[in-house]
Amino acid sequence: MKLSERLNTICQSIPPGSRLADIGSDHALLPTCAVLEGRVVSAIAGEVNRGPYEAASKQVSEAGLHGKIEVRLGDGLAAIEAGEADVVTIAGMGGALIVRILTEGRAKLAGVQRLILQPNVGEDLVRRWLLEEGWLLTGETILEEDGKIYEVLTGDRSPSAETENARLYADTTVGEPPVRLDREQLIDFGPYLVREASPVFQGKWIGEIDKLKWVAESMGRSDSSDARGKKEALERRIESLKEVLACLPKDKPLSN
Ligand code: SAM
Repeated sequence: MKLSERLNTICQSIPPGSRLADIGSDHALLPTCAVLEGRVVSAIAGEVNRGPYEAASKQVSEAGLHGKIEVRLGDGLAAIEAGEADVVTIAGMGGALIVRILTEGRAKLAGVQRLILQPNVGEDLVRRWLLEEGWLLTGETILEEDGKIYEVLTGDRSPSAETENARLYADTTVGEPPVRLDREQLIDFGPYLVREASPVFQGKWIGEIDKLKWVAESMGRSDSSDARGKKEALERRIESLKEVLACLPKDKPLSN
């Protein structure tokens, strides 16, 4: 069984020897591979929907992993009890849903040392939640697979989370000529990702600018003052994104 690059990136971020809870597990590919690889000692695959729950149960049974992986039906972290997992993974959903699951299930996170989160959109919402809830953002990976761009965010419990996060999200300069980024921009871009400024990262934000331009143009076709105000706000955002992108290393693709 071979995982996609996206799921493999998540799998490799799980500390060896952990007890995993994969929430929204669908076919339970991640826990199955993590157990087969010997990376985790046990896993819970949580699913809210009956179809994916059955697919996960079938997967686990075909792999002969009943003793190691428990498939449970439940909404978000309701599928686990506090103290059952060291690592929680939530992948392939929107950032708002991930934040809802984490917020509603906060009490179940007692004992969890690491969260590995892969929002399909709304990565800023997830970074903000980690920051406000006192989790230290210890890693960010951006990757492109089958024409889609994914970010994998890792949050750890750490006694020094507050001071380290304060340093991570403090106003900083990147690029040449240097451009200043504030906390909000770092939450938006990702504090590690913007410093690394990989081609995939730049590609993501070029695509984002294109989408915003398209929305601004359609707002421009309306006569209402509300639409005009929104168009102006979008144009300010586009300019601020372009200003940052223009300062990132020139060997990386910058077409806008
Ligand atoms: N995590 C897998 C991955 O990244 O490949 C599957 C992603 S799939 C797109 C999203 C899964 O999350 C679906 O199987 C869906 O049923 C499940 N899901 C959505 N909301 C959920 C919730 N509140 N609690 C548990 N699972 C949920």
